[in-house]
Order: sequence, then structure tokens, then C-alpha cells
Amino acid sequence: MSIKVLFAASDTDWQAYRTSLRTALDDAGLDATLARDLPPDEVDYIVYAPSGGLRDFTPYTRCKAVMSLWAGVETIVCNETLTMPLTRMVDPGLTEGMVEWVTGHVLRLHLNIDHALARQDGRWDRHVPPLARDRPVTILGLGKLGHACAKALSALNFPVSGWSRSAKDIPDVRTYAGPEGLRAALSSAEILVLLLPDTPETVDILDADALATLPKGAMIINPGRGPLIDDEALLDALDRGHISQATLDVFRIEPLPVEHPFWAHPKVTVTPHIASETRPVSAARVIAENMRNCEMGLPLEHLVDRGNGY
Ligand code: NAP
Repeated sequence: MSIKVLFAASDTDWQAYRTSLRTALDDAGLDATLARDLPPDEVDYIVYAPSGGLRDFTPYTRCKAVMSLWAGVETIVCNETLTMPLTRMVDPGLTEGMVEWVTGHVLRLHLNIDHALARQDGRWDRHVPPLARDRPVTILGLGKLGHACAKALSALNFPVSGWSRSAKDIPDVRTYAGPEGLRAALSSAEILVLLLPDTPETVDILDADALATLPKGAMIINPGRGPLIDDEALLDALDRGHISQATLDVFRIEPLPVEHPFWAHPKVTVTPHIASETRPVSAARVIAENMRNCEMGLPLEHLVDRGNGY
């Protein structure tokens, strides 16, 4: 099979992916031309990230699929020129990284490690943390990432609840679905993890009302997307002490502007969108195998549902 693959992402991405993609395409048995510049009407597949600047897909008349390097596709899903199938990134390396980041921060908040680090002042001030079994965690979003995090936290004995659009059956995880399940999912969450995509339905899902539903003193970890949280409502809930800590990796505007109150807030930890990243070696394999499947007439995996927006 001979195919032409356009790499439409940034220079940095090209440096990171070039070798891995070449190897993965060869390993998949594909006779592939891989380049950053190809005549549009000859392109079979586009490997895509918003950083590459490609916005008009109209000239790519024979393109069989656009394959996103990112798990979140909110910046491209509404592009009306993108009429070919769109796949999102589901990468074992990305999932592994997210599980480590989420587990690390849940443990940090659960054990109150920030407090211990801040108090190296000679005082023998014993605050024994509770056991994980007594610290309910809720995860909003039980997709590839949320599901993997739920399993990892459950294995550490945290009582884990999760919420998604469709009903799920995950061993040792209490699951809720649909708008009617949200309140119950929130009401027990001492630690809340947001792993939802950014869609019209999820914007501001953590608004003043949802924050009020969380138990007093709840802590929030957001590695999902910035627009999931109403920033003003969160700041207000932190200032009133209803929410005791927020660890935020993603923001409405990135980089987070220096004047944003999150930076200086004593109860907020800001991380610069580093919770997890697509890993070139494993991601290249996923992309190449998906192209091979498509060339063999098999269905594409990880297709984005345009109607749902993720
Ligand atoms: P995914 O597999 O598509 O899962 C999304 C989950 O959200 C699914 O469980 C889905 O429910 C649920 N959901 C979506 N809309 C909903 C709604 N209106 N009500 C209730 N549940 C809803 O996505 P993923 O791979 O786990 O990734 C999740 C998000 O993480 C990405 O979209 C991206 O924004 C973010 N992310 C962040 C980083 C970072 O470094 N910070 C890295 C990678 C990804 P169903 O299961 O019923 O469809």
C-alpha cells in the first residue's frame, strides 16, 4: 500500500515525531511518504495538531482521515471545512502519564503534603492523615483517562465514584451517568478530579451550584480543560472556605495570564498544562496502526463523534 501522510503540526512536534512516525509507518508495513509539505490533493492522511496552523481542509480532497495528536479536539471539532473522519489521540503513554499525575496529586492532597513542606519550623505538630479508604474521590469523565485513573485510585483503596454521559460498569467504582447523576457524584467527593472534554455541554460544569454541592472542604484537581470551571465561582468558594484547595493544570487562556488571581491565591496550585502529553513512540504506533486498518478496509478507531463534540 502506498500512501502520503502530511504532518500538520509545529516544528517542535515534527522534531519529536519524525523518527517515531517513520519507524511506526514502516513497522505497520505501509509504503508511506511522510512530509510536512505535500500537494493537498495527493494527501491520504493528515497527522494534526492545532499548533501547525492548518485551518482550511477544503483542498485535501482525497484525505481519508485527520488524526489528532491531541486527546482534546475542541479547537478542531467544529471546523466546517473538516468533512473527513477525525480521530483523536488515545495513547497508552498519555494515559500512563495522566494516571501518574492524577494519582500523585490525589495523594499529595490526601496526605496534606503541602502543609508538611510548609511547616519545617521545629514544631512537633502531629497531623496524622486519614487512610485512603476514608477519603472519597469522584472523577467527572470516565473515558480513556478517567477510567484508568479510577482504577489506579481504587487500587490504592480510595472509595472512587465516577460520572459520565453513558452508564458504565467498572469494578469497585460507583458510577453515575447523565445530568441526573451529577449531583450524587459530586455530593460525596472530598477530592474531585475533572477529566471531561471541553464541549458546549461541559462548559462551566463546575459552576457555583455544582461547587455548593461538594462537601465543605472539598479539594479539586483539574487536568481536563479550563472552561469546565467557572473561575469566579471557584475563587469565591475558595475564599469562603467551602473549597479548601484547587490544583489546576488547564485554563481558559493558556498560558495563564500573569495577572490572573489563581497565580497568587494561597489555596491554588497552578501547573502549566503538563498533566500528560502524547508520547511520540507509542502515539506514532497508534496512528500508523489506524492508517493500516483504514487501508485494509477496517473501521478507524478513536473516531470523534462530531455531534457530541469529543
Ligand atoms: P474520552 O475518552 O473521550 O472521555 C471523555 C469522558 O467524558 C467520557 O467518559 C464521556 O462520557 C464523558 N463526558 C463527555 N461529555 C459529557 C457530558 N456532557 N456529561 C457527562 N459525561 C460526559 O476522553 P479522555 O481521553 O479520557 O480525555 C479527557 C480529557 O482530558 C480530554 O478531552 C482533554 O480535554 C483532557 N486531557 C488533558 C491533558 C493534560 O495534559 N492536561 C492531556 C490529555 C487529555 P461517555 O463515556 O459516556 O462518552
